[in-house]
Amino acid sequence: MEETRPLKLYFIHFLAAGHMIPLCDIATLFASRRHHVTIITTPSNALTLRKSIPSHPFLHLHTVHFPSQEVGLPDGIENLSSVTDVDNLAKVFNATTMLQPPIQKFVEENPPDCIVADFLFPWVDDLANNLNIPRLAFNGFSLFTICAIHSSQPTSSLLSPTLPHPITLNASPPKELSEFLDKLLETELRSYGLIVNNFAELDGEEYIRYYEKTTGHKAWHLGPASLISRTPEEKAERGMKSVVSMQECVSWLDSKAENSVVYICFGSLCYFSDKQLYEIACGIEASGHGFIWVVPEKKGKEKERQEEKEKWMPEGFEERNAEKGMVIRGWAPQLLILNHRAVGAFVSHCGWNSSVEAVSGGVPMITWPVHGEQFYNEKLISEVRGIGVEVGAAEWTTIGLGERQMVVCRESIERGVRRIMDGGVEAEEVRRRAKEFGKKAREAVGEGGSSHKNLTALIHDLTRLRDAKLLPC
Ligand code: UDP
Repeated sequence: MEETRPLKLYFIHFLAAGHMIPLCDIATLFASRRHHVTIITTPSNALTLRKSIPSHPFLHLHTVHFPSQEVGLPDGIENLSSVTDVDNLAKVFNATTMLQPPIQKFVEENPPDCIVADFLFPWVDDLANNLNIPRLAFNGFSLFTICAIHSSQPTSSLLSPTLPHPITLNASPPKELSEFLDKLLETELRSYGLIVNNFAELDGEEYIRYYEKTTGHKAWHLGPASLISRTPEEKAERGMKSVVSMQECVSWLDSKAENSVVYICFGSLCYFSDKQLYEIACGIEASGHGFIWVVPEKKGKEKERQEEKEKWMPEGFEERNAEKGMVIRGWAPQLLILNHRAVGAFVSHCGWNSSVEAVSGGVPMITWPVHGEQFYNEKLISEVRGIGVEVGAAEWTTIGLGERQMVVCRESIERGVRRIMDGGVEAEEVRRRAKEFGKKAREAVGEGGSSHKNLTALIHDLTRLRDAKLLPC
């Protein structure tokens, strides 16, 4: 039957954990509906994906050459999240711009029915148009944030009063970021539609209507992508290999009381100064609560690493907190941690994946945005949905290792942690709402839920488009 003939879809992810993880999870959703999915990736990222996305007969990986030698990177470094210095960050970014020819060649020689591509590859627009196939765009943001970006002015913290809520950001977007995003979002609007790693209930009908009305573009909420079913081992390897074993992490958490541990992690691209790390250590210790704190691993020789550690760590910090705290230097199994009953709050940079993963686990957030679109996400979490409290960060830097002028002081960190972890009326209310949204997230991806239905509708649309093309004129 024509209706049920599987679609052939290609997914092209950007080479950063925050983009690759959700788009490849979303790709598996289509494969689980028995459509032929190919993720176009590079050799080292393919190794990671093979360990962290569920294997499926309808899901394939196609690798293209990553130009390590051409840009001067060591073999195996093929992702922005694998580096921690500006030079290599620039080299990986440069390498991503060289992927167009091999990807384009593969797609042209084996055209699919639809391409789903990250908005950081705007050239896919022409490729899809030339092949006369629909392109779906993905940028990893919530729809709330896309509406907010569309309605913001460079260097102004005030968002347009036409948005459903009156919103003033805690910092103004840098001009270069606004210009960069505006251009990409403009190309995105020429796509057939937008795939959103969120569920309709969290963005809210008001923002879905606002987006459709102001742009005339269609958005499909298919998430949270992190809720696809996978084994604990696959969860632990998601994005990168974790530096702690799943057993060590889970058994440590098992020994803690419910909601007694605060999880602190700033995603894959935030690096703080030693001074800031010192303040974080002092702030958590002063709060008196248990913690798991993920500190990006500094690359370099073992000796240098040791010296770095001595510089930011308050004397005796780890010894004093041996019982109640765990410091993870490097990649943590975040999904496992956020879904453990012992975790009672998440101090987060508000990267969208981290945010929606916290929501899915019903974990309230203590928001600390740093760069990118994170200052918008903070407002959805704190003011609009009331599932987090703000730490008070007010400096919007550019991605990478840009020097920060402002330090969030230990008192603000302690206050933020206590507002949720000490309990009381406000904390209980925030926790209640977070749990409620966690339940809604799980319902959304379940049979008959909003994201589940959206996927059915999208597949139906794409099938109709493909079959209409086959009809004789
Ligand atoms: N992540 C992880 N372990 C870490 C740090 C990050 O598993 O130690 C994952 C996290 O679960 C999320 C992604 O990496 O899926 C980070 O994406 P996000 O949008 O939150 O932040 P970004 O890294 O893009 O700033």
